[in-house]
Amino acid sequence: MNLALTHIFGPVPSRRLGLSLGVDLVPFKTCTLDCIYCELGKTAAPVNKRAEYVPYEQLEREIKTFFASKDRASHKLDYITLSGSGEPTLNTALPRVIELLQKLTKTPIALLTIGTLFNDPEVRREAAAVNVILPSLDVVSADLFAVLNRPAPGLDVKKIIAGLIALRDEYRGKIWLEILFCRGLNDNPKEIKRLVEAVGVIKPDKVQLNTVVRPGTMIEAVTVTQAFLKEVLPKFGPQAEIIAPFSKDSDYGKTIEKTEETILATLKRRPCTKSDLEQALGLKAVEVIKILDLMLEKGEIKSLEHSGKRYFQTIV
Ligand code: SF4
Repeated sequence: MNLALTHIFGPVPSRRLGLSLGVDLVPFKTCTLDCIYCELGKTAAPVNKRAEYVPYEQLEREIKTFFASKDRASHKLDYITLSGSGEPTLNTALPRVIELLQKLTKTPIALLTIGTLFNDPEVRREAAAVNVILPSLDVVSADLFAVLNRPAPGLDVKKIIAGLIALRDEYRGKIWLEILFCRGLNDNPKEIKRLVEAVGVIKPDKVQLNTVVRPGTMIEAVTVTQAFLKEVLPKFGPQAEIIAPFSKDSDYGKTIEKTEETILATLKRRPCTKSDLEQALGLKAVEVIKILDLMLEKGEIKSLEHSGKRYFQTIV
């Protein structure tokens, strides 16, 4: 039986994790936040209640199918990333999925999370089984949190920071904290000072500074310059870095190149939206976004708005 993999994506290139196989634990845009810079679009209704949003049995079937295929399993993965199109810690199947992956592969497991649920000791205990946790913290001020991250009711940024501090105290693996800057919102000296103080108490192993790479759901999500990131970098200490543009690696370059070529050939025929490409190529939104991101960075394609939709086209 040919089982379609709807919750496994990739391997895809990740700027932070190299070649990564994604395991998507929640349905599209099931998230605690509705960030204005989200590349996946709007969160219809942010939630903070945990549940088995995708049944464990379905994830188990897909993961086993992936690893049963010699062709797929032969990729030299840098990480298996629990992430995808929403907040993975919302799924109560998280610990069983981690356990299953650890039985099937020795590839390190990364948890890409917005980190909003770590004030729940149960979530911290479950997450502690992975090799690296990549939480985010964009702001410290409650008013900016409301504007930039637009949380589910009941989420409090102070409690989120307390959860990250507790995670650091209990977790022996690596924590790489991402801070994403949006121009005119969290790039002012007051907020930067607060973020630096928060980093000082959270004590992550790395601080990764980032900015909006592609247009998000709101026009207010404007990128800061590389010069700005370089200027603030030293304030966050020696463990801070700017997230480097993705660099090709010969082990997986072919897979990525092939998808890029197919996208390029499709866009040469006509401009397409992200969903056109998903349907035409049978790829997941996250995969298409990552490859388009690379192609935009390399200047191979450009994006433009037309009748309220974002199209991608080749540069002629
Ligand atoms: S936390 Fe991530 S998935 Fe959720 S809205 Fe923000 S950017 Fe999108």
